[in-house]
Amino acid sequence: MKFYPGPWFYNAAIIGFANSVSKYFGNRSVEYLDDGTLEIEDKVMSLLRKPVWEVIDNLPKSLQPPSTSGKGQDFIEEAPVNAWMFILETIEFLKQPGNAGKNFLKKIKNAEKHRDPFELFQIVRSRYFLKSGPFANAISAGNKEENVIGLVTKLFCGKEETIDERVHCSLCGKEFNVPKDPDRMFMDNRILKYAASSKDKFPGFHWGFKPSIPICPECLSILFYGLLAFVRGPTGKYLFINAHSFKLMKELHKELKEIATKRSVESPSKVFIQSVLKQLFLIATSFSLWSTLTIEMYQITSDFSRSSVTYIPPHKIEQLLGSEEISNALMAMHSTEIFEHFIQNDIGWLFNLLYLLTKYIISHGKGSIEELYSYIGSKNMEHASYLMNDLQVLICGMLYNGGGQMDLWKVKKAAMSLPPKLKEDLAKLSYQILEKTRTGSKDDALYLIERTFAAHKTILTDEIIDIFDEKNDETFKLKLYTFIGRIFEKSEKGGEEE
Ligand SMILES: [Zn+2]
Repeated sequence: MKFYPGPWFYNAAIIGFANSVSKYFGNRSVEYLDDGTLEIEDKVMSLLRKPVWEVIDNLPKSLQPPSTSGKGQDFIEEAPVNAWMFILETIEFLKQPGNAGKNFLKKIKNAEKHRDPFELFQIVRSRYFLKSGPFANAISAGNKEENVIGLVTKLFCGKEETIDERVHCSLCGKEFNVPKDPDRMFMDNRILKYAASSKDKFPGFHWGFKPSIPICPECLSILFYGLLAFVRGPTGKYLFINAHSFKLMKELHKELKEIATKRSVESPSKVFIQSVLKQLFLIATSFSLWSTLTIEMYQITSDFSRSSVTYIPPHKIEQLLGSEEISNALMAMHSTEIFEHFIQNDIGWLFNLLYLLTKYIISHGKGSIEELYSYIGSKNMEHASYLMNDLQVLICGMLYNGGGQMDLWKVKKAAMSLPPKLKEDLAKLSYQILEKTRTGSKDDALYLIERTFAAHKTILTDEIIDIFDEKNDETFKLKLYTFIGRIFEKSEKGGEEE
Protein backbone atom coordinates (compact mmCIF):
# COMPACT_ATOMS: atom_id res chain seq x y z
CA MET A 1 0.00 0.00 0.00
CA LYS A 2 1.34 3.36 -1.02
CA PHE A 3 1.16 6.51 1.11
CA TYR A 4 1.47 10.08 -0.15
CA PRO A 5 2.49 13.02 2.03
CA GLY A 6 -0.51 15.05 3.18
CA PRO A 7 -1.36 17.37 6.07
CA TRP A 8 1.22 17.46 8.85
CA PHE A 9 -0.72 15.39 11.41
CA TYR A 10 -1.27 12.71 8.78
CA ASN A 11 2.45 12.74 7.92
CA ALA A 12 3.32 12.42 11.61
CA ALA A 13 0.94 9.47 11.83
CA ILE A 14 2.47 7.72 8.83
CA ILE A 15 5.95 8.19 10.30
CA GLY A 16 4.85 6.76 13.66
CA PHE A 17 3.01 3.91 11.96
CA ALA A 18 5.85 3.04 9.58
CA ASN A 19 8.36 3.05 12.45
CA SER A 20 6.17 0.59 14.33
CA VAL A 21 5.67 -1.64 11.31
CA SER A 22 9.37 -1.87 10.54
CA LYS A 23 10.13 -2.54 14.19
CA TYR A 24 7.90 -5.65 14.28
CA PHE A 25 7.87 -6.79 10.66
CA GLY A 26 11.39 -5.84 9.64
CA ASN A 27 12.87 -2.96 7.65
CA ARG A 28 11.97 -4.61 4.39
CA SER A 29 8.25 -4.28 5.03
CA VAL A 30 8.52 -0.49 4.66
CA GLU A 31 10.05 1.30 1.73
CA TYR A 32 10.84 5.02 1.70
CA LEU A 33 10.90 6.10 -1.92
CA ASP A 34 12.91 8.94 -3.45
CA ASP A 35 9.79 10.67 -4.74
CA GLY A 36 8.75 11.28 -1.14
CA THR A 37 6.14 8.53 -0.92
CA LEU A 38 6.20 5.45 1.27
CA GLU A 39 5.14 1.89 0.69
CA ILE A 40 4.14 -0.79 3.20
CA GLU A 41 3.82 -4.42 2.17
CA ASP A 42 0.23 -5.42 1.45
CA LYS A 43 0.53 -8.66 3.35
CA VAL A 44 1.50 -6.73 6.48
CA MET A 45 -1.38 -4.29 5.99
CA SER A 46 -3.92 -7.10 5.71
CA LEU A 47 -2.47 -8.93 8.69
CA LEU A 48 -2.85 -5.79 10.78
CA ARG A 49 -6.59 -5.72 10.16
CA LYS A 50 -7.17 -9.27 11.40
CA PRO A 51 -8.03 -10.19 15.00
CA VAL A 52 -4.90 -11.05 17.00
CA TRP A 53 -6.22 -14.49 17.97
CA GLU A 54 -6.96 -15.47 14.38
CA VAL A 55 -3.40 -14.89 13.15
CA ILE A 56 -1.49 -15.46 16.38
CA ASP A 57 0.79 -18.09 14.81
CA ASN A 58 1.74 -15.81 11.92
CA LEU A 59 2.77 -12.92 14.11
CA PRO A 60 6.41 -12.04 14.69
CA LYS A 61 7.50 -13.14 18.13
CA SER A 62 7.71 -9.65 19.58
CA LEU A 63 4.09 -9.06 18.62
CA GLN A 64 2.67 -12.26 20.10
CA PRO A 65 0.44 -11.48 23.07
CA PRO A 66 0.93 -13.27 26.41
CA SER A 67 -1.41 -16.11 27.29
CA THR A 68 -4.34 -14.51 29.02
CA SER A 69 -7.90 -15.09 30.10
CA GLY A 70 -11.13 -13.17 30.76
CA LYS A 71 -11.21 -9.67 29.31
CA GLY A 72 -7.67 -10.02 28.04
CA GLN A 73 -8.67 -13.05 26.03
CA ASP A 74 -11.80 -11.29 24.74
CA PHE A 75 -9.56 -8.47 23.64
CA ILE A 76 -7.20 -10.54 21.54
CA GLU A 77 -10.08 -12.52 20.05
CA GLU A 78 -11.80 -9.42 18.76
CA ALA A 79 -9.31 -6.54 18.43
CA PRO A 80 -7.10 -6.37 15.33
CA VAL A 81 -3.32 -6.76 15.38
CA ASN A 82 -3.11 -3.03 14.59
CA ALA A 83 -4.63 -2.13 17.98
CA TRP A 84 -2.29 -4.50 19.81
CA MET A 85 0.74 -3.07 18.02
CA PHE A 86 -0.46 0.42 18.93
CA ILE A 87 -0.77 -0.51 22.61
CA LEU A 88 2.73 -1.98 22.77
CA GLU A 89 4.22 1.02 21.03
CA THR A 90 2.31 3.53 23.14
CA ILE A 91 3.46 1.82 26.33
CA GLU A 92 7.03 2.17 25.05
CA PHE A 93 6.35 5.82 24.23
CA LEU A 94 5.04 6.43 27.75
CA LYS A 95 8.21 5.00 29.18
CA GLN A 96 10.36 7.54 27.38
CA PRO A 97 11.73 10.30 29.62
CA GLY A 98 9.22 13.00 30.46
CA ASN A 99 6.17 11.26 29.02
CA ALA A 100 4.76 9.87 32.27
CA GLY A 101 5.12 10.44 35.99
CA LYS A 102 6.45 7.96 38.53
CA ASN A 103 3.05 6.72 39.68
CA PHE A 104 1.92 6.17 36.16
CA LEU A 105 5.04 4.19 35.35
CA LYS A 106 4.32 2.00 38.38
CA LYS A 107 0.85 1.32 36.99
CA ILE A 108 2.41 0.26 33.71
CA LYS A 109 4.85 -2.05 35.45
CA ASN A 110 2.02 -3.74 37.32
CA ALA A 111 -0.04 -4.24 34.21
CA GLU A 112 2.94 -5.67 32.40
CA LYS A 113 3.32 -8.19 35.19
CA HIS A 114 -0.31 -9.24 34.81
CA ARG A 115 0.26 -9.64 31.09
CA ASP A 116 -3.28 -8.61 30.32
CA PRO A 117 -3.77 -6.82 26.97
CA PHE A 118 -7.06 -5.30 28.04
CA GLU A 119 -5.55 -3.86 31.20
CA LEU A 120 -2.73 -2.42 29.13
CA PHE A 121 -5.20 -0.79 26.78
CA GLN A 122 -7.12 0.72 29.69
CA ILE A 123 -3.89 2.35 30.86
CA VAL A 124 -3.22 3.79 27.43
CA ARG A 125 -6.84 4.88 27.29
CA SER A 126 -6.72 6.69 30.61
CA ARG A 127 -3.81 8.70 29.31
CA TYR A 128 -4.65 9.34 25.69
CA PHE A 129 -8.31 8.57 24.98
CA LEU A 130 -10.01 10.54 27.72
CA LYS A 131 -10.70 14.24 28.14
CA SER A 132 -7.13 15.38 28.70
CA GLY A 133 -5.59 13.20 26.01
CA PRO A 134 -4.86 13.80 22.34
CA PHE A 135 -7.73 11.52 21.20
CA ALA A 136 -10.23 13.01 23.58
CA ASN A 137 -13.42 11.79 22.07
CA ALA A 138 -12.43 8.59 20.36
CA ILE A 139 -13.41 6.35 23.29
CA SER A 140 -14.70 8.84 25.81
CA ALA A 141 -15.39 8.24 29.48
CA GLY A 142 -19.09 7.82 28.76
CA ASN A 143 -18.53 4.45 27.13
CA LYS A 144 -19.23 1.38 29.25
CA GLU A 145 -16.37 -1.00 29.79
CA GLU A 146 -18.11 -3.82 27.92
CA ASN A 147 -18.25 -1.66 24.80
CA VAL A 148 -14.62 -0.67 24.86
CA ILE A 149 -13.26 -3.71 23.01
CA GLY A 150 -15.83 -3.23 20.26
CA LEU A 151 -14.85 0.42 19.89
CA VAL A 152 -11.16 -0.40 19.76
CA THR A 153 -11.88 -2.93 17.04
CA LYS A 154 -13.69 -0.32 14.96
CA LEU A 155 -11.14 2.44 15.54
CA PHE A 156 -8.21 0.26 14.59
CA CYS A 157 -9.66 -0.97 11.35
CA GLY A 158 -11.01 -4.31 12.50
CA LYS A 159 -14.37 -5.74 11.50
CA GLU A 160 -17.10 -3.20 11.16
CA GLU A 161 -20.59 -3.14 9.73
CA THR A 162 -20.98 -0.93 6.67
CA ILE A 163 -23.86 0.30 4.56
CA ASP A 164 -24.23 -0.03 0.82
CA GLU A 165 -22.62 3.28 -0.05
CA ARG A 166 -19.10 4.30 -1.01
CA VAL A 167 -17.22 7.58 -0.64
CA HIS A 168 -13.67 8.79 -1.16
CA CYS A 169 -11.29 9.29 1.74
CA SER A 170 -10.00 12.85 1.94
CA LEU A 171 -6.58 11.75 3.19
CA CYS A 172 -5.62 8.81 0.98
CA GLY A 173 -8.15 9.31 -1.79
CA LYS A 174 -9.32 5.69 -1.78
CA GLU A 175 -12.93 4.68 -1.98
CA PHE A 176 -14.40 2.96 1.05
CA ASN A 177 -17.66 1.53 2.35
CA VAL A 178 -19.45 3.90 4.68
CA PRO A 179 -19.56 2.54 8.25
CA LYS A 180 -23.01 1.93 9.72
CA ASP A 181 -22.06 4.13 12.66
CA PRO A 182 -21.95 7.56 10.93
CA ASP A 183 -19.74 9.16 13.57
CA ARG A 184 -16.96 6.85 12.59
CA MET A 185 -16.60 8.27 9.15
CA PHE A 186 -15.55 11.76 10.05
CA MET A 187 -12.64 13.16 11.84
CA ASP A 188 -12.83 16.30 13.88
CA ASN A 189 -10.65 17.97 16.43
CA ARG A 190 -12.20 16.03 19.29
CA ILE A 191 -10.69 12.86 17.93
CA LEU A 192 -7.37 14.48 17.14
CA LYS A 193 -7.21 17.40 19.49
CA TYR A 194 -3.84 18.80 18.55
CA ALA A 195 -4.62 18.99 14.86
CA ALA A 196 -6.86 22.01 15.39
CA SER A 197 -5.28 25.38 14.76
CA SER A 198 -4.12 27.39 17.73
CA LYS A 199 -5.66 30.64 18.75
CA ASP A 200 -3.87 33.67 17.26
CA LYS A 201 -1.62 31.45 15.17
CA PHE A 202 -2.29 31.13 11.46
CA PRO A 203 -5.99 30.31 11.77
CA GLY A 204 -6.88 27.53 9.40
CA PHE A 205 -3.33 27.32 8.13
CA HIS A 206 -2.73 23.73 9.05
CA TRP A 207 -6.28 22.71 9.72
CA GLY A 208 -8.06 22.15 6.48
CA PHE A 209 -10.68 19.76 7.81
CA LYS A 210 -14.33 20.20 8.38
CA PRO A 211 -16.21 17.55 10.34
CA SER A 212 -18.13 16.69 7.21
CA ILE A 213 -15.04 15.51 5.36
CA PRO A 214 -14.86 11.72 5.30
CA ILE A 215 -11.87 9.68 6.35
CA CYS A 216 -11.55 5.99 5.70
CA PRO A 217 -11.16 3.49 8.56
CA GLU A 218 -7.58 2.71 7.51
CA CYS A 219 -6.45 6.33 7.71
CA LEU A 220 -8.32 6.87 10.96
CA SER A 221 -6.57 3.90 12.55
CA ILE A 222 -3.20 5.22 11.45
CA LEU A 223 -3.85 8.75 12.74
CA PHE A 224 -3.45 7.53 16.32
CA TYR A 225 0.17 6.70 15.60
CA GLY A 226 1.01 10.39 15.10
CA LEU A 227 1.66 10.63 18.80
CA LEU A 228 4.56 8.20 18.45
CA ALA A 229 6.36 10.47 16.01
CA PHE A 230 6.42 13.33 18.51
CA VAL A 231 9.64 14.08 20.30
CA ARG A 232 9.54 15.70 23.69
CA GLY A 233 11.54 18.95 23.64
CA PRO A 234 13.26 20.48 26.67
CA THR A 235 10.41 22.91 27.28
CA GLY A 236 7.95 20.03 27.65
CA LYS A 237 6.35 20.62 24.28
CA TYR A 238 6.25 17.88 21.68
CA LEU A 239 8.06 18.55 18.43
CA PHE A 240 7.50 17.32 14.94
CA ILE A 241 9.24 18.47 11.77
CA ASN A 242 7.11 18.32 8.68
CA ALA A 243 8.45 18.20 5.13
CA HIS A 244 7.06 16.93 1.88
CA SER A 245 8.94 13.66 1.75
CA PHE A 246 8.56 10.71 4.11
CA LYS A 247 12.17 9.80 3.52
CA LEU A 248 13.30 13.21 4.70
CA MET A 249 10.84 13.25 7.59
CA LYS A 250 12.09 9.89 8.77
CA GLU A 251 15.67 11.22 8.89
CA LEU A 252 14.56 14.40 10.61
CA HIS A 253 12.62 12.41 13.17
CA LYS A 254 15.65 10.28 13.92
CA GLU A 255 17.87 13.34 14.34
CA LEU A 256 15.30 15.08 16.47
CA LYS A 257 15.14 12.08 18.78
CA GLU A 258 18.89 11.83 18.99
CA ILE A 259 19.28 15.48 19.93
CA ALA A 260 16.48 15.23 22.48
CA THR A 261 18.14 12.30 24.23
CA LYS A 262 21.64 13.72 24.01
CA ARG A 263 20.81 17.12 25.38
CA SER A 264 19.58 17.16 28.91
CA VAL A 265 16.05 18.33 29.53
CA GLU A 266 17.26 21.50 31.24
CA SER A 267 19.20 22.70 28.20
CA PRO A 268 17.72 25.95 26.94
CA SER A 269 15.19 25.69 24.20
CA LYS A 270 17.16 28.13 22.11
CA VAL A 271 20.13 25.84 21.85
CA PHE A 272 17.79 22.98 21.19
CA ILE A 273 15.98 24.66 18.33
CA GLN A 274 19.25 25.82 16.83
CA SER A 275 20.70 22.34 16.88
CA VAL A 276 17.57 20.91 15.38
CA LEU A 277 17.88 23.39 12.58
CA LYS A 278 21.54 22.62 12.13
CA GLN A 279 20.77 18.93 11.73
CA LEU A 280 17.94 19.80 9.46
CA PHE A 281 20.21 21.72 7.13
CA LEU A 282 22.81 19.01 7.15
CA ILE A 283 20.24 16.49 6.09
CA ALA A 284 18.43 18.71 3.68
CA THR A 285 21.59 19.27 1.67
CA SER A 286 21.69 15.59 0.81
CA PHE A 287 18.24 15.72 -0.75
CA SER A 288 17.87 16.95 -4.26
CA LEU A 289 14.40 18.37 -3.74
CA TRP A 290 15.45 21.06 -1.35
CA SER A 291 14.98 24.05 -3.62
CA THR A 292 11.25 23.40 -3.59
CA LEU A 293 11.18 22.21 -0.04
CA THR A 294 9.07 23.68 2.71
CA ILE A 295 9.96 22.76 6.24
CA GLU A 296 7.72 23.32 9.21
CA MET A 297 8.37 22.70 12.83
CA TYR A 298 5.29 21.93 14.88
CA GLN A 299 5.26 22.42 18.60
CA ILE A 300 2.44 20.70 20.42
CA THR A 301 1.63 21.60 24.02
CA SER A 302 2.14 18.82 26.57
CA ASP A 303 -1.61 18.49 27.09
CA PHE A 304 -2.10 18.18 23.31
CA SER A 305 -4.56 21.05 23.31
CA ARG A 306 -2.70 23.34 20.95
CA SER A 307 -0.09 23.36 18.26
CA SER A 308 1.92 26.10 16.68
CA VAL A 309 4.11 26.14 13.64
CA THR A 310 7.38 27.68 12.56
CA TYR A 311 7.30 27.76 8.82
CA ILE A 312 10.42 28.03 6.68
CA PRO A 313 9.46 28.93 3.12
CA PRO A 314 11.42 27.48 0.16
CA HIS A 315 13.27 30.70 -0.73
CA LYS A 316 14.56 30.93 2.84
CA ILE A 317 15.73 27.34 2.76
CA GLU A 318 17.44 28.15 -0.50
CA GLN A 319 19.23 31.11 1.13
CA LEU A 320 20.19 28.98 4.09
CA LEU A 321 21.45 26.07 2.11
CA GLY A 322 22.88 28.15 -0.71
CA SER A 323 25.01 30.40 1.47
CA GLU A 324 27.36 28.94 4.00
CA GLU A 325 27.97 32.44 5.40
CA ILE A 326 24.30 32.90 6.22
CA SER A 327 23.82 29.54 7.89
CA ASN A 328 27.10 29.78 9.79
CA ALA A 329 26.23 33.24 11.04
CA LEU A 330 22.82 32.04 12.18
CA MET A 331 24.28 29.01 13.93
CA ALA A 332 26.90 31.12 15.64
CA MET A 333 24.38 33.59 16.99
CA HIS A 334 22.30 30.91 18.77
CA SER A 335 19.25 33.07 18.87
CA THR A 336 15.73 31.96 18.07
CA GLU A 337 14.61 35.59 17.83
CA ILE A 338 17.16 36.38 15.14
CA PHE A 339 16.35 33.16 13.33
CA GLU A 340 12.64 33.90 13.32
CA HIS A 341 13.14 37.41 11.97
CA PHE A 342 15.39 36.02 9.30
CA ILE A 343 12.68 33.54 8.31
CA GLN A 344 10.12 36.34 8.19
CA ASN A 345 12.55 38.42 6.14
CA ASP A 346 12.13 41.18 8.70
CA ILE A 347 15.18 43.13 7.67
CA GLY A 348 13.99 46.25 9.54
CA TRP A 349 14.11 44.41 12.85
CA LEU A 350 17.54 43.01 12.07
CA PHE A 351 18.81 46.47 11.11
CA ASN A 352 17.54 47.90 14.38
CA LEU A 353 19.34 45.19 16.26
CA LEU A 354 22.53 45.87 14.32
CA TYR A 355 22.19 49.56 15.11
CA LEU A 356 21.72 48.83 18.82
CA LEU A 357 24.69 46.48 18.90
CA THR A 358 26.91 48.96 17.11
CA LYS A 359 25.80 51.72 19.45
CA TYR A 360 26.49 49.47 22.40
CA ILE A 361 29.99 48.74 21.19
CA ILE A 362 30.97 52.30 20.29
CA SER A 363 29.72 53.52 23.67
CA HIS A 364 31.84 50.85 25.36
CA GLY A 365 28.93 48.96 26.75
CA LYS A 366 26.87 51.91 27.97
CA GLY A 367 24.37 52.82 25.28
CA SER A 368 21.18 51.01 24.33
CA ILE A 369 21.51 48.19 26.82
CA GLU A 370 17.86 48.21 27.91
CA GLU A 371 16.68 48.20 24.35
CA LEU A 372 19.08 45.43 23.48
CA TYR A 373 17.59 43.29 26.22
CA SER A 374 14.15 43.80 24.78
CA TYR A 375 15.41 42.75 21.37
CA ILE A 376 17.33 39.62 22.13
CA GLY A 377 16.28 39.03 25.72
CA SER A 378 19.77 38.27 26.84
CA LYS A 379 21.71 39.73 29.70
CA ASN A 380 24.96 38.28 28.57
CA MET A 381 26.47 40.99 26.44
CA GLU A 382 29.99 39.62 26.42
CA HIS A 383 29.54 38.47 22.91
CA ALA A 384 28.10 41.69 21.54
CA SER A 385 30.97 42.21 19.14
CA TYR A 386 30.74 38.66 17.78
CA LEU A 387 27.02 39.11 17.48
CA MET A 388 27.53 42.38 15.62
CA ASN A 389 29.92 40.76 13.15
CA ASP A 390 27.64 37.80 12.49
CA LEU A 391 24.66 40.06 12.07
CA GLN A 392 26.55 42.11 9.48
CA VAL A 393 27.23 38.91 7.55
CA LEU A 394 23.61 37.79 7.83
CA ILE A 395 22.10 41.09 6.69
CA CYS A 396 24.63 41.30 3.87
CA GLY A 397 23.66 37.80 2.71
CA MET A 398 20.01 38.77 2.79
CA LEU A 399 20.51 42.03 0.87
CA TYR A 400 22.68 40.41 -1.79
CA ASN A 401 20.61 37.21 -1.78
CA GLY A 402 23.43 35.00 -0.62
CA GLY A 403 26.45 36.95 -1.86
CA GLY A 404 28.08 40.29 -1.10
CA GLN A 405 30.55 39.12 1.50
CA MET A 406 33.49 40.48 -0.54
CA ASP A 407 31.97 43.97 -0.47
CA LEU A 408 31.63 43.71 3.27
CA TRP A 409 35.20 42.58 3.63
CA LYS A 410 36.45 45.58 1.63
CA VAL A 411 34.65 47.94 4.01
CA LYS A 412 36.17 46.23 7.02
CA LYS A 413 39.61 46.37 5.50
CA ALA A 414 39.23 50.08 4.73
CA ALA A 415 38.44 50.74 8.39
CA MET A 416 41.27 48.60 9.67
CA SER A 417 43.95 50.14 7.45
CA LEU A 418 43.37 53.71 8.62
CA PRO A 419 46.22 55.51 10.41
CA PRO A 420 45.77 55.05 14.19
CA LYS A 421 45.39 58.77 14.98
CA LEU A 422 42.75 59.25 12.30
CA LYS A 423 40.97 56.17 13.56
CA GLU A 424 40.92 57.57 17.08
CA ASP A 425 39.40 60.85 15.93
CA LEU A 426 36.80 59.03 13.82
CA ALA A 427 35.95 56.93 16.84
CA LYS A 428 35.16 60.09 18.79
CA LEU A 429 32.63 61.09 16.13
CA SER A 430 31.30 57.61 15.56
CA TYR A 431 28.19 58.09 17.67
CA GLN A 432 27.18 61.09 15.59
CA ILE A 433 28.02 59.33 12.35
CA LEU A 434 25.93 56.35 13.44
CA GLU A 435 22.91 58.53 14.27
CA LYS A 436 23.17 60.46 11.01
CA THR A 437 23.27 57.18 9.14
CA ARG A 438 20.31 55.76 11.02
CA THR A 439 18.15 58.80 10.27
CA GLY A 440 19.18 58.73 6.62
CA SER A 441 21.26 61.94 6.64
CA LYS A 442 23.86 60.56 4.30
CA ASP A 443 25.43 63.96 3.47
CA ASP A 444 25.88 64.85 7.15
CA ALA A 445 27.54 61.53 7.83
CA LEU A 446 29.85 62.05 4.87
CA TYR A 447 30.67 65.57 6.03
CA LEU A 448 31.73 64.30 9.48
CA ILE A 449 34.03 61.74 7.92
CA GLU A 450 35.44 64.14 5.32
CA ARG A 451 36.16 66.74 7.99
CA THR A 452 38.14 64.24 10.05
CA PHE A 453 40.14 63.12 7.06
CA ALA A 454 40.85 66.76 6.12
CA ALA A 455 42.07 67.53 9.62
CA HIS A 456 44.58 64.73 9.17
CA LYS A 457 45.48 65.95 5.70
CA THR A 458 44.44 62.56 4.33
CA ILE A 459 42.47 61.85 1.17
CA LEU A 460 39.36 59.68 1.39
CA THR A 461 40.13 56.17 0.16
CA ASP A 462 38.25 54.66 -2.77
CA GLU A 463 36.60 52.14 -0.47
CA ILE A 464 35.07 54.91 1.62
CA ILE A 465 33.96 56.84 -1.45
CA ASP A 466 32.36 53.61 -2.65
CA ILE A 467 30.31 53.42 0.53
CA PHE A 468 28.84 56.85 -0.11
CA ASP A 469 28.30 56.10 -3.78
CA GLU A 470 26.06 53.22 -2.75
CA LYS A 471 22.63 53.79 -4.33
CA ASN A 472 20.69 51.36 -2.17
CA ASP A 473 19.84 52.86 1.22
CA GLU A 474 19.95 49.57 3.07
CA THR A 475 23.26 48.52 1.60
CA PHE A 476 24.67 51.94 2.43
CA LYS A 477 23.51 51.65 6.01
CA LEU A 478 24.95 48.18 6.39
CA LYS A 479 28.31 49.28 4.98
CA LEU A 480 28.58 52.37 7.15
CA TYR A 481 27.51 50.51 10.31
CA THR A 482 30.13 47.92 9.50
CA PHE A 483 32.76 50.59 8.90
CA ILE A 484 32.05 52.27 12.24
CA GLY A 485 31.84 49.00 14.10
CA ARG A 486 35.18 47.92 12.70
CA ILE A 487 36.90 51.14 13.76
CA PHE A 488 36.35 49.95 17.30
CA GLU A 489 37.47 46.46 16.65
CA LYS A 490 41.01 46.91 17.85
CA SER A 491 40.05 48.53 21.11
CA GLU A 492 37.50 45.76 21.67
CA LYS A 493 39.96 42.95 21.11
CA GLY A 494 42.76 44.70 22.98
CA GLY A 495 40.43 45.42 25.84
CA GLU A 496 41.59 42.54 27.98
CA GLU A 497 42.79 44.82 30.75
CA GLU A 498 39.21 46.01 31.31
ZN1 LIG B 1 -7.89 6.99 3.75
